[in-house]
Amino acid sequence: MRVAVLGAGLAGTCVALELAAAGLDVHLFDRAPQALSGASLGNEGKIHLGLVYANDASGRTARTMVRGAARFRPLLERWIDAADLVAMASTPFVYAMPRDSLLPPARIRAHFAEVGRLWSIAARQPGTRYLRDDLPPGWRERRVGGDDGLFDAREVTHVFESNECAIDTPMLCVRLRARLATEPGLIARYDTTIEAVHADPRGGYRVRFRHDDATGEEPFACVVNATWEQRLVLDAGLGLVPPGNVVHRYKVGLTSDDLGLAGRMPSVTFVLGPFGDTVGCPARAYASWYPAGLLRQEFGVAPDPAPIDLSPARRRELAAATLAGLRTLMPGATALGEDTLDRWQVTGGYITAWGRSGIEDAASELHERHAVGVHSDGAYHSIDTGKFTLAPLFAAEACARILQREARRA
Ligand SMILES: Cc1cc2nc3c(=O)[nH]c(=O)nc-3n(C[C@H](O)[C@H](O)[C@H](O)COP(=O)(O)OP(=O)(O)OC[C@H]3O[C@@H](n4cnc5c(N)ncnc54)[C@H](O)[C@@H]3O)c2cc1C
Repeated sequence: MRVAVLGAGLAGTCVALELAAAGLDVHLFDRAPQALSGASLGNEGKIHLGLVYANDASGRTARTMVRGAARFRPLLERWIDAADLVAMASTPFVYAMPRDSLLPPARIRAHFAEVGRLWSIAARQPGTRYLRDDLPPGWRERRVGGDDGLFDAREVTHVFESNECAIDTPMLCVRLRARLATEPGLIARYDTTIEAVHADPRGGYRVRFRHDDATGEEPFACVVNATWEQRLVLDAGLGLVPPGNVVHRYKVGLTSDDLGLAGRMPSVTFVLGPFGDTVGCPARAYASWYPAGLLRQEFGVAPDPAPIDLSPARRRELAAATLAGLRTLMPGATALGEDTLDRWQVTGGYITAWGRSGIEDAASELHERHAVGVHSDGAYHSIDTGKFTLAPLFAAEACARILQREARRA
C-alpha cells in the first residue's frame, strides 16, 4: 500500500519508520531540507508525567501524559539503542513555586500526589518504562533557601523534587534522521511543501505538493497528516472542521551544547504560570523564560505566515532577557550568568493547542492537554500530537489503525 506521511517531526518520523518496517510503500514529506527541524527539534524535551498540568482538576491531562511518558522510551527503543536514549536524559526536575503562582501549594501537593498514584498504576503495565527508571518514585518537598542557595527565597516559596526528566532533543533528532536514512522502503521527500489533500473519486487520496518551484500531484491509498501547526489547514481540504478554538504560540528558548553549561545547569520548572524552565542534560543545557520567549500568540486555523524576526540582534536580545528573567528567581544558577550570553543559541517553534486565551489566564484551556490524539476519517489519519511526550504513542496508535485496516483488506 502506498502511504503519504505529511510532516517529518517526531510524530511523522515514528509513523514512517513503523509503516516502512511493516513493508508498506512509505513516502515521508517535509517542507524543510531535512527531517525533524520543526517543534520536535526546538523544544525543551521534557517527557511529561503531567506534574505541570496541576490546573486541570479533572486529572485527564495528567492521565494522558502518563500514558505517553510510559510508552515514549519503549517505542523509541525500536529505532535507537536503549542505552543511547538513557544517555540523553536530563537530571530530575525540581518544581519551584514563585510567590505569584496561579495555584496555592496545597493544590500543587495534591496534584503531585495524584500524579504519583497514576504513575504507580501505569508502571505496572507490561511494555511501559519511563526514560529514566533509576530515580526514586514520586516527589519530595524540600525547604527553600536551606539548600544550595539556588533560589531567591523572597521570590520562591516552595520547592519539590520530582522524578521527571527531559531528553536532549537535538541529539535525539540526529539519531532519528540517521535511522530514517537507512530504513529500506521509506522514501524521504524533503524540500516539498504539501499544498492540499483531496479525496480521489476513484478511491484513496490525491496529494498536491510543491517541489523545486513546480507543483505535482500523486495518488496515495492512505494519508497521515502530522504537520502540527499546519495540520488543520490540510484537514480542511477534506471538509474536516476543527472542534474548537485553536491557539498557535511561537515560543523560543535557549539551547547550548557547551559542556561547561550543561554540567552545571539544574533542571527546574516554575509552577504555575508564565514563568520558565531550565534543563541540564549530559551534553546540553536549555533555558526558557515565558515572558521573553513567547514571540507570537495567534488564534485561528493556522498561524500568520509572515516571518518572525530572529535576526542576530533580536536573538541576542531574547537570550539576554531569558537569562535575566530566570535569574530573578534562581540567582544561584551560575549557568544563567550574564557572562554566558555568547554561549547560547535561540531555538523554538510553534505550540498549537485548543484555547482562546493565554496561560496567564487560570481559566485558559491551555492548562489542559487531553483532547489530543489521532483523528481518522477513512484512510486519512490526522495526528494532533499535543506534546512531544505523546508523539511516539499517537504515532503507534495511527499505525495500528492503518495496519489493522490493511490486514482486513488483504
Ligand atoms: C519551545 C517549545 C517547548 C516545548 N517543550 C515541550 C516539552 O518540554 N515537552 C513536550 O512534551 N512537548 C513540548 N513542546 C511541544 C512539542 O514540541 C510538540 O508537541 C511536538 O514536537 C510536535 O511534534 P510534531 O511531530 O507533531 O510536529 P513538528 O515537530 O513540528 O513536525 C511537523 C513537521 O511538519 C512539517 N510541515 C508543516 N507543514 C507542512 C507542509 N504543508 N508541507 C510539508 N511539511 C510540512 C514541518 O516542517 C515539521 O517538520 C514544546 C514546543 C515548543 C515550541
